[in-house]
Amino acid sequence: MPKEIAIVGAGMLGLTLALRCSDQGFKVTLFESAPEIGGLASVWQIGDLTWDRHYHVTLLSDLQTRKIARDLGIEDEFEWIETKTGFYTDGRLVSMSNTLEFLSFPPLDLLSKLRLGLTILYASKVSDWRKLEQIPVEKWLTRLSGKRTFEKIWKPLLRAKLGEAYRESSAAFIWASIQRMYAARHSGMKKEMFGYVRGGYRRLLSRFQDVLTEKGVEIRLNAKIDRIGATENGAIQIQEANSTRTFDRAVLTCSATVASRLVPGLEPDEIKRLSGVRYQGIVCASMLLKRPISEYYVTNITDETPFTGIIEMSALVDRREFGGLSLVYLPKYIAPDDKMFEQSDEEIEEHFLSGLESMYPAFDRGDVVEFKVSKVREVFPIPVLNYSQMVPEIRTSIPNLFVINSSQITNGTLNVNETVQIAERAFHSVLFELE
Ligand SMILES: Cc1cc2nc3c(=O)[nH]c(=O)nc-3n(C[C@H](O)[C@H](O)[C@H](O)COP(=O)(O)OP(=O)(O)OC[C@H]3O[C@@H](n4cnc5c(N)ncnc54)[C@H](O)[C@@H]3O)c2cc1C
Repeated sequence: MPKEIAIVGAGMLGLTLALRCSDQGFKVTLFESAPEIGGLASVWQIGDLTWDRHYHVTLLSDLQTRKIARDLGIEDEFEWIETKTGFYTDGRLVSMSNTLEFLSFPPLDLLSKLRLGLTILYASKVSDWRKLEQIPVEKWLTRLSGKRTFEKIWKPLLRAKLGEAYRESSAAFIWASIQRMYAARHSGMKKEMFGYVRGGYRRLLSRFQDVLTEKGVEIRLNAKIDRIGATENGAIQIQEANSTRTFDRAVLTCSATVASRLVPGLEPDEIKRLSGVRYQGIVCASMLLKRPISEYYVTNITDETPFTGIIEMSALVDRREFGGLSLVYLPKYIAPDDKMFEQSDEEIEEHFLSGLESMYPAFDRGDVVEFKVSKVREVFPIPVLNYSQMVPEIRTSIPNLFVINSSQITNGTLNVNETVQIAERAFHSVLFELE
């Protein structure tokens, strides 16, 4: 009889684990509380368009993501594009897409630019991230780039992603971000090549669903797990609404805080560690426009604006994918208890559109065809000092119950490549080894 395994959460992590476990001969049941698979990488409907709920791009150096695409038989469906990056600073939009543009970047004098460039180069060469984990990011960047550059460039960029929690964050966060961008520029074509699968995550996820179904994986949607425990003979009980099912083994891929609530039988220390992970959330608007607002895939913003960046998807993806329209994302990263989560979608739309009007005089509300808001309270853990020592363990005190989730990314930023890597490593080091 094949061993039965339950996987809670059908995001990219749970899906990857389901694929590996079924190939290994497990009988897999995947429980997903949402009506569709994909989690943060899921797709949704914006007007007539079905596209990613949150902007997603794959880098040429994302070998784990590309391997999954290969295993699903769609690696040749990637499009690779050289994109441009913009900076909105002091009320002006400037290009920062190559060295020449960097040297003429207005808000910094030549010496500051040199120090900034050296900071990035130095970070790309550092390999011992554990030391950086002990240093506050503000201290590290100020020492390398200088006070003015920290205030003018680094601080707004850190606040854009981490909010005020940047003060408690370690230098390992900025190191990981720089490493990722550096890898993108220095792999393969020596240019910053960004990619997407034709059809977006809709294509990747539907392929995942087909392949898993062919392999006999049971995918249960709208299946919110309420409680998990162990039976006297060591099996794992999964409780969903009014039904309880028993498995040989179970893996939780939901956030650490959710995991802490689902398993009351864990040791107090484990619950403390799981519930102690502090997350950053997001409000992310998807907007369909009659015409693009800029030529930059990403526009970083250093001024005070209602959102923390602009992602012009049509600078990456052929507009024919969007029925000739332009798809723009406006993200705002916030703490899970931020009052913006209580605002209505209409209030957020009004706030964001007036922000765009003051940034881009040519922007016309009449061009907005659709506007839709996604709100997620737990996206990624705040990379506090010595984070790797606080990370929840994969093995729990309950035999045959495992927690494998993105809070276990210690030396990288949250992205699908890291997520898939966590799943692959955990599968080989823990789940596979048990057979
Ligand atoms: C705005 C944004 C932009 C991003 N951009 C990129 C990008 O450009 N490139 C990139 O590579 N990555 C990007 N990412 C990151 C990427 O989306 C994540 O790395 C990845 O999706 C995480 O997958 P996961 O499975 O670990 O978590 P999740 O996707 O969160 O999956 C967890 C799943 O568990 C389910 N669940 C939770 N509780 C229960 C329960 N009680 N019962 C049953 N199911 C439950 C949830 O519904 C969810 O589906 C982005 C993320 C965001 C938010």
